[in-house]
Amino acid sequence: MVEISKHLFDEKCREVSCHILYHPWNQSCITSSLFTYKESFLGSAKFYLIVHLLQNLMRGKTILKRKELIQIGEYYVRSTLFGALVSGTCATFGCLFRFLMGNKMNYYTYILVPNTLNGLFILLEPPSRRGLVINLFCSLVLEHWLRSLESSGYLSLTVAKQTFIFMVGSAVLFYLMRREGEKEKRTPLFWLFTPEKVRNNANSSNNVCPHDGRCWKYILKGTYTYFGVGLAISLARAILPKIGSPVKAISSLRGAHFKLALFFGSYIGVYRTVICYLCRKRGYDSAFYALPAGCLAGLSLLFKPNLGFATASLTGAFKLFATILYEKKIIPENLPLPILLYCFCQGILFQARFLHPHTCPSYMFRVISTVSNGNSERLYSNLLQVVKGTV
Ligand SMILES: [Zn+2]
Ligand SMILES: [Zn+2]
Repeated sequence: MVEISKHLFDEKCREVSCHILYHPWNQSCITSSLFTYKESFLGSAKFYLIVHLLQNLMRGKTILKRKELIQIGEYYVRSTLFGALVSGTCATFGCLFRFLMGNKMNYYTYILVPNTLNGLFILLEPPSRRGLVINLFCSLVLEHWLRSLESSGYLSLTVAKQTFIFMVGSAVLFYLMRREGEKEKRTPLFWLFTPEKVRNNANSSNNVCPHDGRCWKYILKGTYTYFGVGLAISLARAILPKIGSPVKAISSLRGAHFKLALFFGSYIGVYRTVICYLCRKRGYDSAFYALPAGCLAGLSLLFKPNLGFATASLTGAFKLFATILYEKKIIPENLPLPILLYCFCQGILFQARFLHPHTCPSYMFRVISTVSNGNSERLYSNLLQVVKGTV
């Protein structure tokens, strides 16, 4: 993959017409937008159909009332509009900025500025979904930056370092999650598991642990449930693509397919063991136990090293921390920090997809390609031809 620096972009693309980089299907900026928006709506509708289907399946409710169905439909339409407008207006804003810059392409106004501005369309998403998307994008930017530092030789992301990040992230995240436990409304966060509330000694019997029943049962139950979930995901990934030939699919299973299961199972198992041990030893429960418990549980990343998990734990912790700052009024209520953060992240990640693809998280390639209905690939190949001087 080609790294396109500011210098290289300005040298090769400055004089290039916008139709080559934004709308090769039609030379006119205005006429081309019909096709651009149509494709974006189609791509976005396909992408969010799968996302919303999966999310509703995960909620596990099979019978839905009329009101719930209408809400699901409304959320789907809102997400589709969001995706379509981000994808479509990228070209519109790009052409507009090129015009404003005296018909010259510019490194910043090519993707970064248009996609930072159209990040505001996130307001179309319902607030309950918005937080999760923002969190995901922050985590992806962090991953992209760490990979950039690695590729410029400032850092080497060894398994030990990824594990260390995950240990710190998990410790802080679980601590803040337990601190939030008493609140009526928890900050929406998508994480591997939600730790139990801190047991209040005043109303408890002899049990000092945050759970009911025996400790070993509680620990084992968590471990085998999560081991099972991890195994199910790995098996589905391995078997589903080869469903036509089951024998071949089963014979392709290796020890590697147990890595995710070991990671999930040991993550919750170690966490719960440490919490129970500290509760028993000290005779009372405290949110602070989540710090050593999360830290040691983070070691399980060794089974399945993954930078995405490591950065996600940090951004999850940061999100909970930001909620505290809002509550203490350290961040003013009227400052829409999450929205601004999202716009910034979206700009960075879209630019990374086109100009710094070797450090861009693979998730962004899939999202941008699907939402643009495959047209991003065509635009990228045009950009490469311009940079290589073949256009
Ligand atoms: Zn144009
Ligand atoms: Zn216990």
